[in-house]
Amino acid sequence: MTKALFLDRDGVINFERGEYTYRSEDFILNIGIIDLLLHFQSAGYLIIIISNQGGISKGIYKKEDVENLHQVFINECNKNKIKITDFLYCPHYPDVENCLCRKPKSLMLEKAIAKYDINTTESLMIGDSQRDVECAESVGVKGILIKSNIIDSNILNLK
Ligand SMILES: [Mg+2]
Ligand SMILES: [Zn+2]
Repeated sequence: MTKALFLDRDGVINFERGEYTYRSEDFILNIGIIDLLLHFQSAGYLIIIISNQGGISKGIYKKEDVENLHQVFINECNKNKIKITDFLYCPHYPDVENCLCRKPKSLMLEKAIAKYDINTTESLMIGDSQRDVECAESVGVKGILIKSNIIDSNILNLK
């Protein structure tokens, strides 16, 4: 069994702008995120992104936009020798369609945990929203709430 660092995307990986981020020019990595990922990777954690992307359901952008941004992020990670194990996102928005995956629901985490045989008690989830913490803790993963866009170096002391 392995351990994982789960991360929310907007506000953790990239700058939370207060509106949907789906264009590559709006996708700005937060200061300190690369160092944080390197730190946890070298401590033996898989890195898995878990993101709500309800803008798809609302018709604001498409899955391809989400996947394009993800590729931009992967390219940055490759430059830094960081491996992203997986990226799961919920495309739904409750006014449009209900689902079991939108955080704070835990289906995305459950899928990743099963797929990679993850030991939940050794794993962490970093998010900038209470729903990220709720989602993590409902499956026995320790949730860490940060302020949007602030990667405090204290997080590194967790492992
Ligand atoms: Mg967020
Ligand atoms: Zn969903």
